[in-house]
Amino acid sequence: MTNEYDVVVIGAGTGGYVAAIRAAQLGLKVAVVEKQKALGGTCLLWGCIPTKALLEHAHALKVVQHSKEWGISIGDAAVAIDMPQVQERKDKIVGGLTKGIEFLFKKNKIDWIKGTARLTGNGGVEVFEGETQTLLARKDIIIATGSSPRSVPGIAIDHTRIITSDEAIHLKEVPASIAIMGSGAVGVEFASIFHRFGSAVTIVELLPRLVPVEDEAVSAELEKSFKKRGITCHTGAKVTSAKANADSVDVQIQLADGTSQALNVSYLLVATGRGPVTTGLNAEGVGLEMDRGYIKVDAEYRTSVPGISAVGDVITLGTPGHPQLAHVSSAEGIIAAERIAGKDTRPINYDHVPGCTYCDPEIGSVGLTEREAKERGHDVRIGAFPFGVLGRAKMAGETEGFVKIVADKASDAVLGIHMIGARSTELVAEATLAVRLESTVEELIRTIHAHPTMAEAIGEAAHAAHGAAIHS
Ligand SMILES: Cc1cc2nc3c(=O)[nH]c(=O)nc-3n(C[C@H](O)[C@H](O)[C@H](O)COP(=O)(O)OP(=O)(O)OC[C@H]3O[C@@H](n4cnc5c(N)ncnc54)[C@H](O)[C@@H]3O)c2cc1C
Repeated sequence: MTNEYDVVVIGAGTGGYVAAIRAAQLGLKVAVVEKQKALGGTCLLWGCIPTKALLEHAHALKVVQHSKEWGISIGDAAVAIDMPQVQERKDKIVGGLTKGIEFLFKKNKIDWIKGTARLTGNGGVEVFEGETQTLLARKDIIIATGSSPRSVPGIAIDHTRIITSDEAIHLKEVPASIAIMGSGAVGVEFASIFHRFGSAVTIVELLPRLVPVEDEAVSAELEKSFKKRGITCHTGAKVTSAKANADSVDVQIQLADGTSQALNVSYLLVATGRGPVTTGLNAEGVGLEMDRGYIKVDAEYRTSVPGISAVGDVITLGTPGHPQLAHVSSAEGIIAAERIAGKDTRPINYDHVPGCTYCDPEIGSVGLTEREAKERGHDVRIGAFPFGVLGRAKMAGETEGFVKIVADKASDAVLGIHMIGARSTELVAEATLAVRLESTVEELIRTIHAHPTMAEAIGEAAHAAHGAAIHS
């Protein structure tokens, strides 16, 4: 028997489940096919939520480690992290959130079809789970099959000692030592977690600086902070070989100066990026145009085949660097659903997408970096302000970092705001609004920032861009 729907969504990650809810809100009959036993995809099961839960544990440990400074008496007992309890709390948070999506599906009358989907053409989707069932999408299929970790040639992931974030998130012990390949968001977040938990951490980054997509000043500040606390950072370096033993990994690193270094670590975490998931989907079979494994889409997420859309980590818009972020996949899912339901939509301006990296200190950024603004021909004006001067930062004991504003000198338009320091991942919301609403620096100056807050650094950085910060 074939079950008919208006829309069949493949994948219940942040792209797919949000697209499904929006389509159902607009009156469409929706099914979501998901092969995992829980809803939520990478973000909920192995990504945003579990990593940030571990980072909250790391933050709690940091406060306890500084208990004397805070005037909290905990006696002389050694402070240590209890990994089984950490994992239990994290799993409870994840479990609660995935159940929350199940509830939203029921509320919106969305059918969760359990199993692995395969496209059959003309709106058909076969789902395998023990037996096969067939679905028909009368209006559209939305592919939201996401991404999975990928390694680099020559480094074989064994999922035991040479691991990816999928395994790192479930570790039941604090590694004595860990080497991390790659210093993007995933790499530096795990570096922050494990270093705080007590591991000796070595980061190996191929490019000349940490967090290479961020503004160069942010990268420099993070490297300074990491080195100060004892995280070894090798930039311009690469792992040339890795051999897993029973309880350790032998890693060979080629350093920036051309010399080699041998390292024996408990784990090697490969955090060198993620690739699209289309295995078994029959994407090429139904004629979808692909680019290096990604599904090609237009600005409203139509694929090359009428009646099939795609959103999230699995897509390419034809330009390099489509951001693989949960909030991007959700925003794309909403646009795809609204377009399918016949509503007017506006394309996303990818320059306005905020990025958050929850390392310690946190990074929040939106818009053009100083280098990008110059490359696009802007005569730039820069304003920066350190968090350390602020009363709120001193109270929190979080005085590292700064806010940096990149603006166009002639028009005074804010082109980008980049920050590193405590709560930057929250403060970036104001920065995003400023960039999205095409605010000028003058408007940011005239926006009153409440006192005492970390957000005062944004107002002060705007003052600094006009050459007159009040408190520095
Ligand atoms: C460690 C880590 C931390 C991260 N932290 C953040 C963060 O803090 N903030 C942020 O914005 N982003 C973060 N991300 C990225 C974010 O998780 C992804 O960008 C987001 O999950 C992509 O959503 P998606 O819906 O495109 O795909 P996914 O979430 O990958 O979902 C795809 C779903 O499709 C299912 N699927 C695949 N093929 C089939 C099939 N044939 N049939 C049925 N089901 C199928 C999969 O099982 C999966 O559930 C993080 C990622 C990682 C790995």
